[in-house]
Amino acid sequence: MEHLVTEAKKQVVLMKGIGVSAGIVIGRVYVLERGVVEPAQFCCVDPGHTDAEIERLKAAFKESRDQLTRIRKKMEDDRLGKEHIRIIDAHLMILKDNMLINDTIKVIKKERVGAEWALHTVLKELMDYFTKIDDVYLRERSSDVEHIVNRVMINLTGSKHESVTDLKSPAIVVARDLTPADTAQMVKGMVLGFLTDVGGRTSHTAIMARSIEIPAVVGLENVTRRAETGDVAIIDGSTGTVIINPSESVTDVYRKRKEKYEAYGRTLLHYKDLPCETTDGRRIRLMGNLEIAEELDALMEHGVEGIGLYRTEFLYLNRKDMPSEAEQLKAYAKVVKTFAGRPVVIRTLDVGADKVIPLHDSAKENNPAMGLRAIRYSLRNPDIFNTQLRAALRASALGKVKIMFPMISGMEELRQAKGALEEAKAQLRSEGKAFDESIEVGAMIEVPSSAVIADLIVKEVDFISIGTNDLLQYSLAIDRVNEHVAYLYEPFHPAVLRMIKNVAEAANKAGISVGVCGEMAGEPAYAYILAGFGVDQLSMNAFSVLRVKRFLRGASYAEAGKLCKAISGFATATEVEGYLNAALPELYREEF
Ligand code: PEP
Ligand code: MG
Repeated sequence: MEHLVTEAKKQVVLMKGIGVSAGIVIGRVYVLERGVVEPAQFCCVDPGHTDAEIERLKAAFKESRDQLTRIRKKMEDDRLGKEHIRIIDAHLMILKDNMLINDTIKVIKKERVGAEWALHTVLKELMDYFTKIDDVYLRERSSDVEHIVNRVMINLTGSKHESVTDLKSPAIVVARDLTPADTAQMVKGMVLGFLTDVGGRTSHTAIMARSIEIPAVVGLENVTRRAETGDVAIIDGSTGTVIINPSESVTDVYRKRKEKYEAYGRTLLHYKDLPCETTDGRRIRLMGNLEIAEELDALMEHGVEGIGLYRTEFLYLNRKDMPSEAEQLKAYAKVVKTFAGRPVVIRTLDVGADKVIPLHDSAKENNPAMGLRAIRYSLRNPDIFNTQLRAALRASALGKVKIMFPMISGMEELRQAKGALEEAKAQLRSEGKAFDESIEVGAMIEVPSSAVIADLIVKEVDFISIGTNDLLQYSLAIDRVNEHVAYLYEPFHPAVLRMIKNVAEAANKAGISVGVCGEMAGEPAYAYILAGFGVDQLSMNAFSVLRVKRFLRGASYAEAGKLCKAISGFATATEVEGYLNAALPELYREEF
């Protein structure tokens, strides 16, 4: 690696953003020059020239469509997944949509202004509209429209549109925002990591950074102003820390940390084929969480024992129609066949809140996280639910499929969902279509009400899985996507621990499996405590599996149980953490 030295006169800048993709990177910065292109000045055109402006506008739209079509073709050639290509399709759809171009033509005609100014006016109106939308996911979609308008503007003004493919040497890309198309082009690229001013955890760019394993920090607000091309920067994608122009001694610290991180990653591979068993013989199943097909290879390489949470809603995002039964069956079959007999838990559609599909306009709900979300949406839309259940059932003929319902809040909801499943089974039977007659059915425990009545729920399901992300959101009343209340996110909050304990005990008593598939499962220290409460399955992203396995293989289940008993009486998360830090053997302390 090039020995990176920061010039003495440059000021060190320490920034904290949202770490959306883990890993440490030290490298030279390359600032992509392409903020929103604004027309140089207001410019009036003579009535006789408006047609020429309209023609220029149409040509710029056409050029933009052609560029995107070329990118799409390249993505196909590079065998990038459908989810990525679908995002380009969504951009193409916005470009082809007459509204954007017609509104701009109207402004050219009415106000007799140049095409750039008219487009700028339309974009401004659209952005004003988007900022008034409460829904975070939809608000983030405004960046899609901005990207597209920006591309058209660049083509209108003839300015250069820098792309990540323009990089001549490996670099950390800094940009106001990156389009999903940019991120997709990073797969083969020279991009060591990226930093953006805007963005949130749910943006497509963040999702894709994780899936292609490029360290990334977003939401830095003004990194494009604080970093210059050629600066040295350090990214820690796990903590969201960014240091621009670090001193030699800080760079050394991070270089060592990076080496340690990578060496640790390599040593972990040793655990790939070993069972996840504690020193006193308690077996914990380690499963993978799956969103998009590209993650399958990494999950297999890290030795997951199956899929504990298949977030099927990713099949429904970025499109205007619903996936058909055949399309879903194809997607599920791929996963089921990959896991060849190992379990695949298909969670039924969890849309609403921050995951919006075009046909479900959660922006109209005042409080979408508590609105028509997940199982509520499926029960309200029986045809959509039925299509998915039929596809999932048919996939069960090809391997070990289980079906899980999200966000169950009470027994009636559970019974209705199970009723819909029975109906789908009856249809398939009468059509002579194969499925696993003894398919297991589970409920997610992620609403406090269901955690409280876990003893009743366990009597009517084959397994349960605790969704700690939402369980924390709903029990501690902290919006998952609101950074202002993020400090209240405390997995060791006594209320959370009590609920987990209650749920695990109920399941153990009923003799059914109890898993955790929220982010808590992928953190070794939390995983250890979850195991101590009697959880027998943990489901997480590919890159957490071996860390958790290493930890649990060196731990005693009996000891974990004793610790859980001890911490059950504590009043605060801080007390719990302090106690565990002191009580855990030296070996594991690094994991805290
Ligand atoms: C959870 O809530 O913990 C969970 C796993 O579901 P999701 O993150 O998809 O809402
Ligand atoms: Mg959830």
